[in-house]
Amino acid sequence: TSTYDLLIIGGGPIGLATALAAQKAGLRYVVIEKGTLVNSLYNYPVHMTFFSTSERLEIGGIPFVSINRRPTRLEAMEYYRRVANSHQLNVHLFETVEKVLPNGNGYTVKTGKATYNAADVVIATGFFDIENRLDIPGEDLPKVTHYYKDPHYYTMQNVVVVGANNSSVDAALETFRKGANVTMVIRGNEIGKRVKYWVRPDMENRIKEGSIKVYYNSHLTAIHAHSVDIQTPDGLVTIPNDYVLAMTGYRPDLPFLAETGIEIAPTANQCPTYNPETMETNLPHLYLAGVVCGGLDTHVWFIENSREHADKIVAKIMKDRAKD
Ligand code: FAD
Repeated sequence: TSTYDLLIIGGGPIGLATALAAQKAGLRYVVIEKGTLVNSLYNYPVHMTFFSTSERLEIGGIPFVSINRRPTRLEAMEYYRRVANSHQLNVHLFETVEKVLPNGNGYTVKTGKATYNAADVVIATGFFDIENRLDIPGEDLPKVTHYYKDPHYYTMQNVVVVGANNSSVDAALETFRKGANVTMVIRGNEIGKRVKYWVRPDMENRIKEGSIKVYYNSHLTAIHAHSVDIQTPDGLVTIPNDYVLAMTGYRPDLPFLAETGIEIAPTANQCPTYNPETMETNLPHLYLAGVVCGGLDTHVWFIENSREHADKIVAKIMKDRAKD
C-alpha cells in the first residue's frame, strides 16, 4: 500500500490543476485516472472547438497558446499533455477508483489495480462518463450513440439528432455538411438558449431553408432497426432511420459520491455537499473539484470558473497541516 499526502481522483483539467497546486506546495500527491490523460476531452467529438478562449482553459498559470481565440480539442489535449509531461506530474492512467473508505487517519482508496492511503482526497471525476438516457425501446441498438465522434461516418445516411443544445447543434451541422440527411427531434419549441451565439444563425438558417428538418415539441418513443417513431404535436410519425445521435447530456457519478458518504441535496439538481470556501465535503479531508460539483446541473461549472478549486483545496490542506 502506497501512502500519499493527497490522492486526486480524475486526470481531467481540474484534477491536473490540483496536481500542479499540490506539487507547488510540496505535497506528496498522486492522480488516479481511469482512462487516458484528459479522458473526457479525448472522447469529445473529434473536430470540436472549445467555447472558451484558450487563456481561460489554462491551469497552473501556464500559458496556452492557440492560433485562433478558441482552441480545438486537439490543441487542448496537446496543451494539457505538455503541461503534465513538462511538470512531470505523478499520474497513474487506466486505473479506476472503486472505493474511498475513511480509515481514521485519512482515507484508504481502492482501485482496480492497487490500494492507497492518503491523508486528503480530491474527487475531480467530472460528468462525462454517464449519459442521460432516453429510456425508450431500441435505445441499446448499436446504431444509437450518446457519444457522437466523427461526421464522415454518417455520410449518405438518415440521421436523427436528439436534443437542442450545443452538442446536438454541432452534431446536426457537422453531419449535414458531410452529406447526411439530418432530422432533429427537440422537446421544446426552439433551439436551446445556451447554443453558442456564433453557431446559432447557421443552425437557424439550415432549418429555415429546410436542409435540416426539425420536429419541435416532440420526442422519440421508439427506435427500430430501420426507422424511428416520433411523438409530434400532430401525432405519431415514423421516419426511415440509420443512426440516432442522442445528445441528451451527461451526469456525474452521484451513486459513487453517495456511496463514499458525501451528502447529496434532495433537490432537483442533486448537488453534492461542499463548503464553497474550501471545497471540503461533509467528510473531513475529502474534497470536490471541477464540474462534478454541479450535480445534475452540468452548466454551472466550466474549466474557467472551477480551476480555482485547485488552489482553494491546497490552501485548506496546507492550513490544516500547519495546525497539526
Ligand atoms: P473531466 O475533464 O470530465 O475529468 C474527469 C476525469 O475523471 C475524467 O478523465 C474521467 O475519466 C476521470 N474519472 C471519472 N471517474 C473516475 C474514477 N472512478 N476513477 C478514476 N478516474 C475517474 N468546459 C469549458 O470550460 N469550456 C469549454 O469550451 C467546454 N466545452 C465542452 C464541450 C463538450 C462537448 C463537453 C461535454 C463539455 C465541455 N466543457 C467545457 C465542460 C468540460 O467537460 C469541463 O469543463 C472539463 O472537462 C471539466 O474538467 P474536470 O477535470 O472537472 O472533469
